[in-house]
Amino acid sequence: MAITDKIYVKNHQQLVSQLETSFPKGAFKGATMDILYQGEGLSKLDDATRDRVLDFAEDFLNCDCEGSPHCSCPERKFIGYLLELREQGLGPDAIVDVMTDDYMLYAYPGDVLSFLDSAVRTLEAAEQLADVDGRPEAASRMRGTRRNLTR
Ligand SMILES: [Zn+2]
Repeated sequence: MAITDKIYVKNHQQLVSQLETSFPKGAFKGATMDILYQGEGLSKLDDATRDRVLDFAEDFLNCDCEGSPHCSCPERKFIGYLLELREQGLGPDAIVDVMTDDYMLYAYPGDVLSFLDSAVRTLEAAEQLADVDGRPEAASRMRGTRRNLTR
């Protein structure tokens, strides 16, 4: 399962009752994106919640693909956001705190940790491929990113 399948909407029950419509707890479930992030229920949410829901929609559900937001751009962008936080030196617990502050989302720190580990392993493998392929610049760029993720 991808990490984006393990990102959840905080205060889910409360939001369901504010919207008077049920939607899944997973932030990247199709129905959540339709109902919570693209729906007409925004006006029913309290201000603090609405701001964060709108921020999430603006930051991640903002592409022009025909199938948007069901085009996997939101997931890809969110993964970039997680990696950026890691590159800023945050650990899994702090990353979860930040996503809660920013977007009212949460995840289990253990899931974030395994995601970061596997991102580093993926980069390692890609680095080796680039070395073998004779693409030293690509390899060194990935090495730099990996160092930032593991420091
Ligand atoms: Zn898209």
